[in-house]
Amino acid sequence: TPGIRPLVAGNWKMNGTSASLNELRSIAGGFMTGLDAETEALLCVPATLLSRAAEILHRTPVKAGGQDCHAKETGAHTGDVSAEMLKDAGASHVIVGHSERRTDHGESDVVVHAKAEAAWRAGLVAVICIGETHAEREAGATLSVLSRQIDGSVPGTATPSNAVIAYEPVWAIGTGLTPTVADVAEAHAHIRARLAEKLGEAAGKMRILYGGSVKPSNAGELLAVANVDGALVGGASLKAVDFLGIAESY
Ligand code: PEP
Repeated sequence: TPGIRPLVAGNWKMNGTSASLNELRSIAGGFMTGLDAETEALLCVPATLLSRAAEILHRTPVKAGGQDCHAKETGAHTGDVSAEMLKDAGASHVIVGHSERRTDHGESDVVVHAKAEAAWRAGLVAVICIGETHAEREAGATLSVLSRQIDGSVPGTATPSNAVIAYEPVWAIGTGLTPTVADVAEAHAHIRARLAEKLGEAAGKMRILYGGSVKPSNAGELLAVANVDGALVGGASLKAVDFLGIAESY
């Protein structure tokens, strides 16, 4: 989208140990030598790696992020991590409402909305994920599902600097399947229009990422679609060669 700096974001999910930090170094190295400075990069690593990742990525063009946060700042929530803790560990961004969180942990739009606000309370950018299931697409409900998720998950105080929207069709995540370019264009145009109804002019500058089985071989055509302002990449963000290949396709 004209006037929007694209963002290529990686989501390592529940993958990665100390040994994976070498991959992270290679990714940072790739962005420091040669890659287009016009593209912004982010890697959302497991919470266990965040502080070390942030140290490695410090003074590189690649930012470090978390994959989820609790809505509260502190308290009796065993095993959870707050947005403030992610910020303290060196994160600049946090993913909220990933479909795996929505499914595995029953997160509703209300919960995702609260997590986005928690991200802002801590000074993080919220990467808010939405997307239809296979059954919803089959039923012709894709656009209405996206509207409902935007209405419920995206707080009215979202701005282009505190929020990124990620459109991830659930059936395309980790499956190797992707929507057609026409379907991606339709979904992203719809998301932009719905954001505009909700947020006004700010929606024109908000990044809308596509996510779901993005790899070097399909990134070029997906990232060229109107209203696609970058990618959220799962599996292919684990290998520097793949993640850099995607970023290079801009
Ligand atoms: C994701 O988890 O956000 C994702 C898009 O995964 P993958 O790229 O592996 O489909």
